[in-house]
Amino acid sequence: MEVQERLQDVVSRIHAAEKAAKRPKHAVSLVAVSKTFDADAIRPVIEAGQRVFGENRVQEAQGKWPLLKGETPDLVLHLIGPLQSNKAAEAVALFDVIETVDREKIARAISAEMKRQERTLRLYVQVNTGLEPQKAGIAPKDTVAFVTFCREELDMAIEGLMCIPPVEENPGPHFALLAKLGRECKLDRLSMGMSGDFETAVQFGATSVRVGSAIFGSR
Ligand SMILES: *Cc1c(COP(=O)(O)O)cnc(C)c1O
Repeated sequence: MEVQERLQDVVSRIHAAEKAAKRPKHAVSLVAVSKTFDADAIRPVIEAGQRVFGENRVQEAQGKWPLLKGETPDLVLHLIGPLQSNKAAEAVALFDVIETVDREKIARAISAEMKRQERTLRLYVQVNTGLEPQKAGIAPKDTVAFVTFCREELDMAIEGLMCIPPVEENPGPHFALLAKLGRECKLDRLSMGMSGDFETAVQFGATSVRVGSAIFGSR
């Protein structure tokens, strides 16, 4: 299959999952995760009509997206990997959405950069639903307080929550936990689900899914 057929296949599966979950068509948006693929590999996916992409490294994204954004101005770029404070300026300049706000220090750095650059990004708080030590994200029990801190202390609008369930676990309970935390925070956007489990995520209320290898092939 060509990359464009794989994209179409993923889009069809999202629509089928929306229908099966009795959710409205287009309730779920697709973030095409293009990490490790270069501009030439990404262009056919843009040409097929996909506009929303995700990258997990600031430096890697800087090597391809200024060019691609120049060619297609309505692209929307999500940062889905951990952000270090010393990369906040570059991240705020390049990305439209940061999905990995997960601690006070980085929230402060993003807030300061958005003011300095007069850019408003859409922001998600990453939750470490599996409490995995090697994984980024705020602990579930601290999520409401952290979202409140972002809103009240930093005057930052948070759009939703994001999670990456532990690889070897059934993702359903993690998606359910993220949805519950979303309700507690009065947030209705949930970024959850990847190539292996996006249909399950749609069933649990995902409003965006981050799909890489099912579109671009294995990395
Ligand atoms: C790589 C990545 C994805 C996409 O993973 P696939 O299994 O290739 O679909 C989604 N989310 C995050 C945070 C990632 O780093």
